[in-house]
Amino acid sequence: MPELPEVDSYRTGLAKTMKGWKIKGGKVIWPRTSDANFEKIKNQKIIEFNRKGKYLIIDLDNHHIIIHLRMTGRIDITNGDTPKYTTVEIQFENGKKMCLVDYRKFGKVWIVENTDDIVGHLGIEPLSKEFTAKKLEKMLENRSGRMKPLLLNQQFIAGIGNYLADEILFRASIHPLRKANTLKEEEIRYLYRSIRHIIRKSINYGGTTFLTFRGPEGKKGDFWKELQVFRKTGEPCPHCTKPITRIIVGQRSTHICENKQKIMKKPD
Ligand SMILES: [Zn+2]
Repeated sequence: MPELPEVDSYRTGLAKTMKGWKIKGGKVIWPRTSDANFEKIKNQKIIEFNRKGKYLIIDLDNHHIIIHLRMTGRIDITNGDTPKYTTVEIQFENGKKMCLVDYRKFGKVWIVENTDDIVGHLGIEPLSKEFTAKKLEKMLENRSGRMKPLLLNQQFIAGIGNYLADEILFRASIHPLRKANTLKEEEIRYLYRSIRHIIRKSINYGGTTFLTFRGPEGKKGDFWKELQVFRKTGEPCPHCTKPITRIIVGQRSTHICENKQKIMKKPD
């Protein structure tokens, strides 16, 4: 499933080729994907590509196109054809098309003047300057929920999904069921560093290749080779060799090393 790193690889990849492209029109092929009116953005040019959490934001002269890929969405740039499973297509003056290709059809497209209408509810960007260890400590203070659902909560931190959460908690040696406000200062520092490290590393590898994800120009992400626990049930833990176990947390598959990620820490 596309998470922050995959969307980020679209942001950087598409910006390289598509800046300045002028929009000719657009078409919603699967009605539930979008109720956007593409007449509004006719003749506008692409100025910049941005990202907030897992949302890709395309800045135009006067509007923004916002895309959420959800489970299986990917973006294809074609020479004019429309791939199978396309839910929305945008046509450009140069004859190219940008297609949201999405066989499970959960992806969404919006056209807005103010991006806050769609992404204003999102929590802090984990790679931003504002996100510091001190800030994370404050954010955790009043949270009595479990760690993994909290990391997946897009209003808490934007962009972390299932595989990133498992990898982050493993690296930080924190059990997914730990209550957020029981973390010690040192654990919060590890958690903070793990969040930044895992997300940066995944971006550097171009994300992963789960399901139908393909980066811009069909380039595949290589981060799956670096995964330590996600979907590794039964394989030896890279640290202690104890087999990785799979548990269910908040209805999501969760992968842990029971040695490294203890639910109860021994008192100091
Ligand atoms: Zn282990």
